[in-house]
Amino acid sequence: MSNNRIEIKEKKRAFLSGYNSFTVKRAGVLNCPFPKLGARLEVDSDLSPLFPYINGSVNGAAYLDKPERIQFLFEGVQCTLYASEIIAAAFQDQDHAMSFGEHLLDFLNKLHENRKSVTPNYRKVKPLSPLDIYKILPKTNCGECGEPSCLAFAGALSKGWVSAKKCPGLAQPIEEKAVYPVIDKDGRLTSTIELDLPKSVQAREQQQDHPEAVLTERELEVLKLLAQGFTNPQISKQLCISPHTVKSHVAHIYEKLGVNDRAQAAVLAARFNLI
Ligand code: SF4
Repeated sequence: MSNNRIEIKEKKRAFLSGYNSFTVKRAGVLNCPFPKLGARLEVDSDLSPLFPYINGSVNGAAYLDKPERIQFLFEGVQCTLYASEIIAAAFQDQDHAMSFGEHLLDFLNKLHENRKSVTPNYRKVKPLSPLDIYKILPKTNCGECGEPSCLAFAGALSKGWVSAKKCPGLAQPIEEKAVYPVIDKDGRLTSTIELDLPKSVQAREQQQDHPEAVLTERELEVLKLLAQGFTNPQISKQLCISPHTVKSHVAHIYEKLGVNDRAQAAVLAARFNLI
């Protein structure tokens, strides 16, 4: 997919008047049936003074250091704000990315305007290094997590891009504190590692744990049929909606539940007794 550059029209705002540039590119898993897009947005104001206020007001935000940045879910999209740029994914199409960009701009401006009524939170999360995380992985490079190797998965986990649950070979953490044992090749416990996952990943997992809370009524209907093996044309006929609308609902379901295909969506639907 080509690299699209979009300029958002200037808005008369006190803090951010618009984006200097707005680049939308293909992102995520390449074999996904619905290609997803990521966006890079540049701003000319310094966003970092807002980070403690986002941390203090957005549920699940993770404030990180080196470089200073904050990650959170905004309208179901994972975004990372740096001092002068924003990285966000995933979008269904350019219109989705554009409306996200406009809503985020409004959100940041309103937060800036009302920041005196927010208690700032300066606490930062310290991510573990990929090499530390690698110690607790099975090291088989089986690829089931969607990453090409265990080290790549460790890197993604340290950045908060994925959840530890994506690796089926990783045992459950020692309860509550997400503490994992590090075992040497003779089976001896050598140390433990505490994974302080960004809360934004936990929030995404909660979306998967409660699909009925994040899907619209229509999306739930589509999910139920999809999980029963109905094809898109059959769902379209059953619900009297166009195939294009079905395709769009399916894409939104994938996005909201963080799944890549019908089988994964069906597993979630079955797990939560939707079928
Ligand atoms: S699923 Fe687990 S064992 Fe397999 S490559 Fe990913 S991290 Fe390694």
